[in-house]
Amino acid sequence: MKFEILHSSSKSRARVGRIHTPHGIIDTPNFVAVGTNGTLKALDNKTVQEIGLQLMFCNTYHLLLQPGTEIVREGGGIHNFINRQLPIITDSGGFQVFSLAYGSVANELKSRGTKKTDGTVLKITEEGVLFRSYRDGKKILLTPESSIEAQKNLGADIIIPFDELPPYHIDREVLVKSLERTHRWEERSLQAHLKNPQNQAMYAVIHGGVDADLRQKSCEVLTNLPFDGFAIGGSMGKTKDEMIGMLTAMMPLLPREKPNHLLGIGDLESITGCIPLGIDTFDSSYPTRAARHGMALTGTGPLNLTKGEYGSRFEPIQKGCSCSTCAHFTMAYINHLFKAREMTALTLTTIHNLHFMVELMRRYREAIAADLL
Ligand SMILES: [Zn+2]
Repeated sequence: MKFEILHSSSKSRARVGRIHTPHGIIDTPNFVAVGTNGTLKALDNKTVQEIGLQLMFCNTYHLLLQPGTEIVREGGGIHNFINRQLPIITDSGGFQVFSLAYGSVANELKSRGTKKTDGTVLKITEEGVLFRSYRDGKKILLTPESSIEAQKNLGADIIIPFDELPPYHIDREVLVKSLERTHRWEERSLQAHLKNPQNQAMYAVIHGGVDADLRQKSCEVLTNLPFDGFAIGGSMGKTKDEMIGMLTAMMPLLPREKPNHLLGIGDLESITGCIPLGIDTFDSSYPTRAARHGMALTGTGPLNLTKGEYGSRFEPIQKGCSCSTCAHFTMAYINHLFKAREMTALTLTTIHNLHFMVELMRRYREAIAADLL
């Protein structure tokens, strides 16, 4: 992998760059679509490529449980198996194991710190984490080494070391222990990866929760190891302002010459706030999830296509939009499909929303190149 910076903004830390991978170029900043099971919900991978999404996120945890990473390897690796010729990033599986144990940060905040313990995680030791498969109840030990082996079977362009996602509500002492163990796990992951690099790149994951000192420590430890880039993980606060504050302090601690990725955050407001801080890529299921709820993204805010008022709007979602949905179908038709509970409604709205993200990021790159932000 090679990263080149084409332009650094004179106004902020924003930069326009290009990540070269074995499956082509990722222009940065960019939006990364989430295809958990090797597909974006409601879209096939040929369509996803046509929309122009340059990087797709697949989840090792889900692919490990179904169909199993060895099947993917037998099928010629993830690109071949899912028929995608463009770059793919996989995570370590750690995030899902722990988020199933603790619930999502949002749920945790709502429940005011009551842990959701559905018994999925059985044991966390120095070796790794023992959990029960939600599919067949089988016990699985996920370790740095087994996570990397799984990601070698998948063969994505960018891979992620095994880490622990600590719950948002956590004592500092426990957080310190978790962070130290995560650093040891990430180093073990890196060693396992470097034994068989397979032309893959590995991004470290910066942790430290909402503690600025621990975030700084995490940057120090991980930037001293030969990772190819840096992902930022874990909770950075309850609000977007807290997250922006944390990232403002952290970003100068990461090397400018390596690419970075903000894990799991990619709503429009966060992207606007984070691009000037120098974030290169964002992954989020927001545009695809919104589409499945009938929300179409537009330059003037989201439209709820399931509302009655769109039932007689015989025009595209957005005038001038060059997506295949807007080129061929009206809001009235899509409104009808939602009301009739036809799956095509989800497909058409998802295509528009992802096209919107591709265009949005292209405009951000142009604005940075012109020193407008
Ligand atoms: Zn459109």
